[in-house]
Amino acid sequence: MMDGRALRSVADKPGMPAFLPALTLEHCALLVESRASEEHTLNSQCDTIMSALSAFEIPEQVAFTTDSGTVATLWGIRKGMFPAVGAVREAGTTVIIEDVAFPVERLAAGVRELQALFTEFQYNEAIIFGHALEGNLHFVFTQGFESQAEVTRYGKFMDAVAQLVAVKYEGSLKAEHGTGRNMAPYVELEWGADAYQLMQRIKSLFDPKGLLNPGVIINDNPDAHITHLKPMPKADDLVDRCIECGFCEAVCPARTLSLSPRQRIVLYRELSRLEREGSTDKHAELQKAFDYLGVDTCAATGLCAERCPVGINTGDLIKKVRIAKYQRFVPIARWTANHFDTVTTLTRVGCPPTARCNLFSVKKPWAACSIASVNSPRAKHRRGMKASPAPTLTKPLLLKRAEPNRLFTSLPVPVAIWATKSAVKINAH
Ligand code: SF4
Repeated sequence: MMDGRALRSVADKPGMPAFLPALTLEHCALLVESRASEEHTLNSQCDTIMSALSAFEIPEQVAFTTDSGTVATLWGIRKGMFPAVGAVREAGTTVIIEDVAFPVERLAAGVRELQALFTEFQYNEAIIFGHALEGNLHFVFTQGFESQAEVTRYGKFMDAVAQLVAVKYEGSLKAEHGTGRNMAPYVELEWGADAYQLMQRIKSLFDPKGLLNPGVIINDNPDAHITHLKPMPKADDLVDRCIECGFCEAVCPARTLSLSPRQRIVLYRELSRLEREGSTDKHAELQKAFDYLGVDTCAATGLCAERCPVGINTGDLIKKVRIAKYQRFVPIARWTANHFDTVTTLTRVGCPPTARCNLFSVKKPWAACSIASVNSPRAKHRRGMKASPAPTLTKPLLLKRAEPNRLFTSLPVPVAIWATKSAVKINAH
C-alpha cells in the first residue's frame, strides 16, 4: 500500500508509470503480487483479487502481468520511496522511518488518522507505505534536531502516534522491525505495567549488569527518544543528503583499510560541527585522524554512488578536500611542470659523477631513481621484482625531455610536489 504523498514523491522519477503525476493526494495504490505453481491456479487467484476490488473506484491500473520488466518497474515505485524523501529533505535534517501495525480491519481509518497527525504537526513531506495484508505501515518523515522547538515538536508527535496506534487502535508500535530507542519509552504504554515489569525482570536475569544493548527496548527514561540525539549538521552540498543508511559500505574498496563512505561522511560532518562550535583542540585532533583515514586512503572510485539511494559519490567530496588541502602547493607544481627543462638541468648539475654515485647510492640508494623511472630499483622492489644490482643516480635522470613533462603534468598535485622536493634535495648534493 502506498498513500498519495508516497506516490507523488516518486512521480517524476525516470521509469515511473505515466499516470502517476495525475494522481492526487487522496489516491492510494495497491501493489498486489500473487504466486502459484500452476498457471490456472494463478489466473484464478488474480480473478478473485480483482473481484474483491470491484467495489472500489480504480482510476488507473496495470493489469496483472508476468513480464519481468513491468514487474521491476512496479516494484521500483515502492522501492524508490524511502530514498525519495531522503533526497528532498532539507540539509541538516534526519530521515526517520517508523514501523507500526493497525488491526487489518481498521487499517484505512488508521491511515487517515495518521495523515491527520502529519498535518497537525506539520510533517508535510511525510509519506506512508507498507504491507496492507498485515496492517503494517511504514511512515517516513524528516526532522531537524538542532533547536529545542524542533525536539519538542518531535517528542509531542511521537506521543500522539503512540496514543493513536497503541491505545486508540490497540495496534503495535513495532511490526516487522525491532523496537529501538525511539519506541522504548512507549513499551509500557503498549503492553501495560504488569507485562513491562515482567520484561524488566527477564532482562535483569539475563543481563544483571545492563551490558546488553543498554537503553534499547527496556529504558526507564521517559525521554529516551529525545535525549542524546545525533545532529546532522550541514557540511557540504555534495553529502548533505546522506541519510547514513550504509548501503554504500559493501562496495567501498577502502572499507577494511580505514573508513567506509558513510563513516567518512559522519566524520566530515563532525568536523564541520566542531569548526562551527569553535572547538579548536577537538577539531585539530579529529582532523589529524581524518587526514589519513578519510582523505589519504579513499580510492575515490565512485563505486559508492552506484549503491547510494540518494546518489552520493563520497569520492567527489574527498577529491574536493584534497584539492583544498594541497592548494598551496599548486604554484610550485605548475612551475615545475612548465619549467621541467630547468628542473632536470639543475638536477643533472647536482649529480655526482658515476663513480662516486655508486658509493653515494649506498647511503641514499634510490633518491633520484624514484623521481620518474618506473624501472628504478625502488619501483621494482615495490612491484616485487628483483632490483638492479648497481643502481646509479645518473641513469634515471637521462629521461627524454618529453617524458618528464608528460609524467609531471599527469601526476596529481601531491605527487608532483613530492617529486619536486626530491629533485631539490638531489640538487643540494
Ligand atoms: S552515502 Fe552511503 S550512507 Fe549516505 S545515503 Fe548514500 S549509501 Fe547511505
